[in-house]
Amino acid sequence: MNSMKSYYQTTIDTQVNFVGIGLHSGEVVILKLKPTADTRGIVFKRMDAPLKHREILARQYNVSNTTLSTTLTNEFGTSVSTVEHLMAALYGCGIDNAIVEVDGPEIPILDGSAKDFVINIAQAGIRHLDKERSILWVRRKVEVNDGDNTAVLLPSLSQSFSVNLDFPDTVIGQQSYTYDTVSSDFTKQLASARTFGFLEQIAGLKAAGLVKGGLLSNAILVDKHKIINEEPLRYKTEFARHKVLDAMGDLALAGYPIIADYHSYKGGHDLNHKLVSKLMSDQRNWCLMTYSEFEVLVGPKFSAGRSSNLAAECNDQYEPRKQVVSSR
Ligand SMILES: [Zn+2]
Repeated sequence: MNSMKSYYQTTIDTQVNFVGIGLHSGEVVILKLKPTADTRGIVFKRMDAPLKHREILARQYNVSNTTLSTTLTNEFGTSVSTVEHLMAALYGCGIDNAIVEVDGPEIPILDGSAKDFVINIAQAGIRHLDKERSILWVRRKVEVNDGDNTAVLLPSLSQSFSVNLDFPDTVIGQQSYTYDTVSSDFTKQLASARTFGFLEQIAGLKAAGLVKGGLLSNAILVDKHKIINEEPLRYKTEFARHKVLDAMGDLALAGYPIIADYHSYKGGHDLNHKLVSKLMSDQRNWCLMTYSEFEVLVGPKFSAGRSSNLAAECNDQYEPRKQVVSSR
């Protein structure tokens, strides 16, 4: 499946349910993924919260915590955590709009990847809505740093994710992976890449109230030069691929597909959130247009030099629409 194939917005065609434990909370959660004609995007609903406080829109301005996973919180203080793998699954499957009902504080971790979400979303099918899909085209470089950890968006005529990891003296070592949304296959190349953790950090994380639901069935556990799990790696570059999956989920919180080349070096949820926030904070950074408008601009005679012209045309024709940068 490819997230960029439709000119029209989509939702899931039929409801699918999931039951599982939260990686950090350890709590059992029932999740219902429901179709909607509401085109606000992905809307989480905490069904155990008071009716008026339930809704949490999946947007970067609702990100409240990025420690090991991404947490969203609405203006009433209602939160849902570890949203990134489900967000990546929906994005990768090309689902723009859906209601995600949960009866607890965290999205189930399932097997630590997006695999089960993707299998079930694919079985449920996709329904097209009567509203055009829009994209955010990145007009100039946006970069965030934290020490030598870096995340950057570069202007491009398509979308790609490129990740470099460096965990010296571990089985991971230096690892890199690039995913191109046009030519790559989300289900085959990304969806099954599992999250990972380090044995030496587990005690500290548990003491901090995290990874209470962490099991060998929902994460790759690394002990320096060996992997504790009996299940072999699903990909040689599973660690880097998982970081791409995380980035896809985090960037989906922009609320639109971001047309740019994403690169990260030793990145994570915190840098991804800062990157999307920095992108959205300055309207000179991006241009919002429908996917069909974008195709007209890019044109059938695609050329390498087109990117710079596109910036000028974008400036003339498509003034940034102010409602994109919402704030509370
Ligand atoms: Zn992850």
